Amino acid sequence: MKIEAYTVPTDLEEAYQLLQKEDAGIIAGGAWLKLLPKTLVHGIDLSGLKLDTINETEENYTIGSMVTLRQIETHSSLRTYMGGVLQEAISHIMGVPIRNIATIGGTVAGRYGFSDLLTPLLALRANLVFYKKGQITLESYLKEAPKEKDILLQVIIKKEYGKANYTTVKKTANDFPILNVSVMKIGTHFRVAVGARPSVATLATKTMAYLNESKALTEEVIEKAAAIAVEEIKFGSNARGSKAYRTQLCKVLVERGIKEVAYENTN
Ligand SMILES: Cc1cc2nc3c(=O)[nH]c(=O)nc-3n(C[C@H](O)[C@H](O)[C@H](O)COP(=O)(O)OP(=O)(O)OC[C@H]3O[C@@H](n4cnc5c(N)ncnc54)[C@H](O)[C@@H]3O)c2cc1C
Repeated sequence: MKIEAYTVPTDLEEAYQLLQKEDAGIIAGGAWLKLLPKTLVHGIDLSGLKLDTINETEENYTIGSMVTLRQIETHSSLRTYMGGVLQEAISHIMGVPIRNIATIGGTVAGRYGFSDLLTPLLALRANLVFYKKGQITLESYLKEAPKEKDILLQVIIKKEYGKANYTTVKKTANDFPILNVSVMKIGTHFRVAVGARPSVATLATKTMAYLNESKALTEEVIEKAAAIAVEEIKFGSNARGSKAYRTQLCKVLVERGIKEVAYENTN
């Protein structure tokens, strides 16, 4: 990547106005950007905007967009939240040096199909706060990114108590996932998210509705839920795996995920 003019604004409005210029773009950790054969006429580094902290209240975690993946996986309580589901997902992303640089903001804004982190964030029903657009759900952002250029300020996770599972399948530890699945049980309600299909993570809404309406969680119900998941989710093929392989993987991972979270309800 080539940057022609590099700015580190200390004021959000200044950063936003710069971003509206043609060929202007945000630089978070630069971890992904630097791999791209791209020229940024105006590179806007967000590191002067104090967006690099995690604030915890009784209700929420508010994660600044410049918080690194490493900050999340080592945070005193976020790392164990919901059985450590975020730490587990992040632990599969390259090594610590990359995780010290890559940010949650760059991960969300990139809307990467291969993401390990977006899948559990989706199941956690994370919300996003943008400078101009305000608050939107991660779910709606992943379905359709807003057309206007904006700055992601925060990712908000509402605290809930339950059990969560995350499984990613990779050919080698440092590769992108072939498929990943996160299943959560909050009270009596299930959530199922599937990522690296290879397109971006999505909630398996029909599967969730079926599980939540089922009176007893029998072996047959779990099998049927997994069958609904592979029916409702669209899979594709790429260099890492075929559509048929992903479909099989999804069925197995959804079944296993449901079983893992089904029988306990602890934080
Ligand atoms: C070699 C390598 C391997 C990787 N492997 C994996 C993997 O296996 N699994 C996985 O989940 N991830 C993987 N990643 C991705 C990584 O986890 C990060 O998601 C990614 O690198 C984002 O980097 P960054 O935070 O430095 O963002 P940048 O590279 O700085 O920016 C990424 C994009 O987001 C935009 N952006 C950044 N912040 C904001 C903001 N606040 N508001 C609006 N737009 C913004 C930028 O303009 C840019 O378009 C890998 C990354 C690398 C470099």
